[in-house]
Amino acid sequence: MSRFRTAKDLAIILGLVEGTSLHAPGPIRDEHQRLNRLEDCFVSYFLGFDGTTYQRELVCAEFAAHYLPALIDRYIDAPTLNASGPAPLEQRAYEMFNASLYMLLQLYPIPYFSKYFRSQAPIAARGKTLMRVLVDRIVSYGPLLDQKKEELPEDDFDDLYCLPLLDALKLLSICLRFFTKHQEPIPLEARNNLTRYLIKWRHQSWMIDVQYSSEDAYDDLRGKSRIPTAVIEAARRQLKAREKCAFPKCEVKENLRACTRCSIVAYCSEAHQRADWNGTRFPHKPTCFETEY
Ligand SMILES: [Zn+2]
Ligand SMILES: [Zn+2]
Repeated sequence: MSRFRTAKDLAIILGLVEGTSLHAPGPIRDEHQRLNRLEDCFVSYFLGFDGTTYQRELVCAEFAAHYLPALIDRYIDAPTLNASGPAPLEQRAYEMFNASLYMLLQLYPIPYFSKYFRSQAPIAARGKTLMRVLVDRIVSYGPLLDQKKEELPEDDFDDLYCLPLLDALKLLSICLRFFTKHQEPIPLEARNNLTRYLIKWRHQSWMIDVQYSSEDAYDDLRGKSRIPTAVIEAARRQLKAREKCAFPKCEVKENLRACTRCSIVAYCSEAHQRADWNGTRFPHKPTCFETEY
């Protein structure tokens, strides 16, 4: 069985570092090809050609530890789609959904993802936060989408313009549900515009998934998620992996000490930390990395 891509392979494909590798052969022609290559990495994993869930998790952990700030910066300052100047809606769709957003959705909910949002480090390039940028992009997409709806056959419209919106809404819901406290608040005007569109989209039938995602994002925006509180709480605990001793089967929650290198896990005692380092089925060692955040 061949190995899943390395974190560096993924960073090369995403344009975060220079170089080539076995799994990222040749220069990348354009942003569409970048997304295709990245999707291939994850799709072949899902089809079982390439690696295991565990390997994928290790690679994603290493990727997030090393490249997450660069990835978010790249999403915030998305490159232009092509030099000749694409149609405005295409450019907007691409700014909303591209290889960077695809990768962000793969990284959630590994602990480094939440560590990044909890950190005090500058959130992203030029002081903008991911959530603010997502909101701005979704809000400015609304009017263009309405316009285009009249012009295109339904199938083209779904693939080109609804799917990007769907994925942007997914990430927005994640940010609203789990990381709102760590984000700059959404200014009132943008919030009102967003609410208006979410209400509109959740009643429109053009794509059922967009309806559901709009419904979710609308509820998340009001802090009234329809997902049961217990489920959200459980996910929050998982995101803050440090609330329980990370040694399997140990339930101690008091007087924990975080791993000094990665700080994504914590232990009740040195004995459990040592035992978890490489002695368990899912040892800590291969997911432990220093981060700049
Ligand atoms: Zn313990
Ligand atoms: Zn560690």
